[in-house]
Amino acid sequence: MLLDTPRGMDDLLPREMALKRRIEDVIREVFKLYGYLEVETPTVEYYELFALKSGEEIRERMFDFIDKGGRRVVLRPEVTASIARLVASKLKAMPPPLRLGYIADCYRYDEPQWGRRRRFWQGGFELIGSKDPLADAEILEVSYEVFSRIGLRDQYFKVGHVGIFREILKSYRVNEKIQDRILTLLDRKMIVEAFDLMRKNGVDEDGVKVIENLMKLEGTDLRKISIDASNILSPWKEAYRDLEDLCEIIDLAREGGVESKMVVSLGLARGLEYYTGFIFEQSVPDLRIALNGGGRYDNLIELFGGNPTPAVGCAIGITRIMQYILEKKAEETPTPSRPRILLTGVADVSKRYVMKVARILRGMGFGVEVEVLSRKLPSAIEYALKSGMKFMIIVGRREEAEEKISIRDLELRRQVELPLSDEEKIMEALTGVERV
Ligand code: AMP
Repeated sequence: MLLDTPRGMDDLLPREMALKRRIEDVIREVFKLYGYLEVETPTVEYYELFALKSGEEIRERMFDFIDKGGRRVVLRPEVTASIARLVASKLKAMPPPLRLGYIADCYRYDEPQWGRRRRFWQGGFELIGSKDPLADAEILEVSYEVFSRIGLRDQYFKVGHVGIFREILKSYRVNEKIQDRILTLLDRKMIVEAFDLMRKNGVDEDGVKVIENLMKLEGTDLRKISIDASNILSPWKEAYRDLEDLCEIIDLAREGGVESKMVVSLGLARGLEYYTGFIFEQSVPDLRIALNGGGRYDNLIELFGGNPTPAVGCAIGITRIMQYILEKKAEETPTPSRPRILLTGVADVSKRYVMKVARILRGMGFGVEVEVLSRKLPSAIEYALKSGMKFMIIVGRREEAEEKISIRDLELRRQVELPLSDEEKIMEALTGVERV
């Protein structure tokens, strides 16, 4: 017990951490490229924030507990609800559109399995305040950009639109709560149960058939799907408009540079209940689960007491991408970066001189590891070579007396002695070492 981590929660060792940082760096580059301002919200939030609209799937899997003050709180299962809270409160006065980004740890009491951990990181993009298909297309673009920069070249999208089903259900006066339940059942592939629930709530056989037929429409030929779907949808004007909206989003994303395969799937549903329109998932062919998911949520901010504010966003599964790269593309895993310089004191040099030299070198931007095991020179060299160091800086009593350092190039097997004050010469001698 003492040596275990809680089930489904992982320690991240240096190699994993290096990969996580690389993915996060890419996400932050794309934040900058598209103008998303990063925010951070608390890991612990009130239960109600997520109970309201995050969906059954998430509600059932929340880490919830009563804090010492008797309040019901949760470890956040996702971040969009927190963003909606921010927009409805502290950012209320900020003129739209808002582009917000986050990188955050999330917690779900899932059964641990491949790609499903109880603690995992998401990187999110949220574009708030616009109904325009340009905004939806931008979310596809940023997702594409992140995956491309990470090196997931065979990425593909699955895109759909829950507005189409919602409009059909609405025409039968199925209320939003029941719509949410039907969509959740469809997401879980519980089709029979979903159809039963529709019938129970006043949807006639024609309506059920329409949904059943729409669900069969899946493929990469947007033109064909849109023709087939328009035939089915002609009596439902609003749903038809949603189909046109989806086609426009895809067209704009293509124009914006999204070159990957896009599978249009009119039966696509997602576990989160707050989606109102365009939805999508992104993955790679050798996986059966998504690496990124998102969509439009036009009612959530208002539900939290904010002004009616349309919004669209996505949450990239950093932890799942990491697992995929570590297992399937191990050769692309970055190695943790370590200093390339080892500073060793020999022959009774004072510890104070060693510290002084380290301070000056680091002040110049060089990462320096100080030898602290009192190793003799040969074993220090052996250690430095094994650790991939390029230089050793050796200081003895003589160097100390003359305020000098000896720089040994381990690759070229050359050694020079330089005054500690001659920064220019030191820089020159340490060529090839990246500065921090
Ligand atoms: P969601 O918030 O459910 O839309 O999930 C968005 C993305 O987060 C998914 O596509 C996954 O990549 C990732 N994700 C969701 N749940 C987990 C989990 N339990 N463990 C690891 N990654 C997850």
